[in-house]
Amino acid sequence: MKEDTVIRLEICPKCGKPYTGRPALSRVDNETLICPDCGILEALATLAISTEEQQEILATIHRYTEGRDHSEH
Ligand SMILES: [Zn+2]
Repeated sequence: MKEDTVIRLEICPKCGKPYTGRPALSRVDNETLICPDCGILEALATLAISTEEQQEILATIHRYTEGRDHSEH
């Protein structure tokens, strides 16, 4: 067992959901650590992308990363 196999669970203060992996730095105050999903959404929001489109992009990213995770195992 290597150390990087340990999953650390953090709670995102923005959406309140637990997440694993590297947190993102909130663009709102530049110090709050949020989940990668919220980091993506904040980045998309600054690009003036609509909420609907943000969800679509996020779903696409999830599909891609999840598919990659499965193929690696
Ligand atoms: Zn979040």
